[in-house]
Parts: sequence; C-alpha cells; structure tokens
Amino acid sequence: MLATLSPAQAQQAPSASVQGSVAQAAAAHLVSQHTGKIGAAAVKSVQATANLNLRSNPSTSGKKLALIPKGTKLTVGSTKPGWSQVRYAGKTGWASSAYLRAVPKNTSKAIKRGDLGKSTVALKLRRQASTTSKALATVPNAGIYTVNKVSAGFSQITSRGKTGWVQSKYLKVVAKKPGREIYIDKKYTSNRAGLTDRYWTKVSGSDLHESVKGKIRIGDIPRNSVVYRDKKMEKTAGSVKGWIFVRTQGMSGWMKTSQLARKSTATTKPGKYSVKTVLGQKNGKIPERMLVAIGWDKEKTLIAAPALKDLNRLNTAFKKKFGHNLDIDLAYRTRATQDAYWVELGPYVAARPGTSNHGWGTAIDVPETYNYSFRGKYHKWLKANSKKFNWVHRKILEEGSPYAEAWHFDYVGK
Ligand SMILES: [Zn+2]
Repeated sequence: MLATLSPAQAQQAPSASVQGSVAQAAAAHLVSQHTGKIGAAAVKSVQATANLNLRSNPSTSGKKLALIPKGTKLTVGSTKPGWSQVRYAGKTGWASSAYLRAVPKNTSKAIKRGDLGKSTVALKLRRQASTTSKALATVPNAGIYTVNKVSAGFSQITSRGKTGWVQSKYLKVVAKKPGREIYIDKKYTSNRAGLTDRYWTKVSGSDLHESVKGKIRIGDIPRNSVVYRDKKMEKTAGSVKGWIFVRTQGMSGWMKTSQLARKSTATTKPGKYSVKTVLGQKNGKIPERMLVAIGWDKEKTLIAAPALKDLNRLNTAFKKKFGHNLDIDLAYRTRATQDAYWVELGPYVAARPGTSNHGWGTAIDVPETYNYSFRGKYHKWLKANSKKFNWVHRKILEEGSPYAEAWHFDYVGK
C-alpha cells in the first residue's frame, strides 16, 4: 500500500477463494471421476448474481420463460457453452452461466484418527461404539477433541479425563493434525484484537511459518517486532510444544518460542543515520542498526532511525492537544512481508513490493478507527499539523482518490 493491509480493505480484496464460475465447475464434471465417461450429469448448486432471464433455448434469442431474481438458488442439470439448464418457478429452461455462481458444497469429510473434532451438539460419551452402550458422561457442545480411534460411525475421544465413544456425525473436523495451517477469515478486525499475550522477536529474521515444520510463509520478521499469541487458534489448530501461534503485522502463523522474548531490546534513541542513508538501503531490508523503537508506543513499533526525532515531536504536539499518545498501527515492514501481502491481496490493496515507504521505515499507519478516519478529529488535526514535523499525508491518499487512505503518513525530513 501505499499503506497497510487493512482488514477492512482485505474484505474488499479480490480473493483467490472466490467460487469458480459455473462454466469451470461444469467442465470439471464433464468427465466423471468414477466412470471416465464424458457427459456425466453435472448437477451443481448455483446462485444468480443478477436478475436474469430463464429462456427456452440456450441462446439469447430463446423465448423468455421467466425472470429469475438476483440471489435465487438454483440447481444446474446440464450445461452448454455459456448456458446452464435450470428449473425456476415450475419451468425448466436455460440461464446464462455468466450470471450464475457456484455455491460451495458442504465439504465436511469423515473424521479420522488423529483429527481434531469439534462437537456440534452436547453428546453422550459411551463406553463402547454403540448407541446402546452405557453413557459415561455428557460431552459439551463446541468442545475440541483429538480422535484416538474411529469405528463404524463412532470416534473415541477423551473428555474431562474420561475416554469413550461419541457419534462421529456430531464431530466437525477442525484440524487434520496439530500445528496445521490456519487461514484467518477476513472478518478479523485487527492484529491484536482481544489479544494481550505479547512477545517480541529476539532473532533477526525470525520466521513466521504457515504450519509447524511447514514451509515458511513470511521470513525475516525483524528483531524487536511485536507478536501476539493467539491461544484460541492454537487450540483449533492443535498446539505443538515449542511453537506458538501468533499474529504480527496483520498476518498470522507459527513461531518458535525460542525466537521470542517478553521484552523489546530495541533502542529508542535516533542515532546517527540520515534519511538519505536509509533510502540508500534495499527496501524492506534495512539493517537492524538503522531501525529504532518508538518509545512511547506500547508495541515499540520499529521505524527508520532518522524519522524518530520528528515523530517524537509530532507526538508531543498531538498529546498536548488530545491528552494521549498518537496510536501507531504499523511503520517498518520487511520485504518478505510485503511480498506475502502482494501474493495474498493483489494490487488493489497491497503496494507493489519494494515501493512502499514502509519498507524504509519512513512511513507510519495510524489505526483505522473513526477518529483517525477522514471525518475524524485526529486525522483532521494530523492533516493540518503533521507537516510542521516533516510528516505528510500525501495528496494521492486524500478522500475521493482511488488510493484514499486516511491512516498513512510519510516522512519527508532529512
Ligand atoms: Zn501505510
């Protein structure tokens, strides 16, 4: 981004997980997985993405039989190029596949040994794998259990010290194995929402992993970056000794506890470097000695050393006006993190890697709360006053611009 991964924007971001078109889905069904024969029935649940005509033939010249309202759920019987045969209001006809979106199927799979299962109702825990076997206890709804064994529709679990059997159909698979990869849904509102268990990275280039022992999702989280432990996610994914599930810089993943400390060791003194020197470094790969922590920020966010003095002055003025410190969401961001955002969010939300001032530590993002929004009192004050301290809100980010961002400020001092 110009600025940051904002979860609000992430919601609008084009997502790779958007359901495929009906044409693709239908094509995939043309060859039956079982028989290999072409022409197997392609029954598919879809939803109309617009008001569209039901026609007598798979052609725009086909007679209009009905108007299908946007949002209607339909079942596709067969397909022809660009057209899907559906039934609506008692009539069978053809609708343009371009306005039909596949509705994802219920993909719940049978639970297996080693899976983590979540109870979907309160369940009887039975001595044996049978509904007539003696009940040992009641397992609460929404508990998460490791499945020890499975047997004909039953799963063996341990609940509150008792081992027994529950009906597998009431267990929803939440993880395949401990320490697995978790994708956070985009509703998540902030890095740290509700999380207070805070650590700092103590290793330069601390790795954030997609899954324990899995491939690395984000490398080089710089030393002295704050991360928040998410125990709920650990429970969901299956906890692994020596690893914790964290959120940092708008992302999440697993980190080794050996790479984490309870305190930041970063200096809060500006040091001797000039902006020119920092800008001479590779974006997102600023040497640690050129980064300093913002002392009054509770996360001790890292920023380019030469930008700190003016940020401190800006904060002093802000505090005088509003009675509290400026809130900082993000400042320095590594190249690896920028790359990860680019892959995940694409060009509408993420800045092209290597181009954001965050990669030099010469930009800050304040939060996306109301007071920091275009209409908010903090933004208005910052917009009017920050330039006195060599921090600017650039014109391209103004309200109404396609790149509008209220929360991003750049350092233009020396
Ligand atoms: Zn920004």
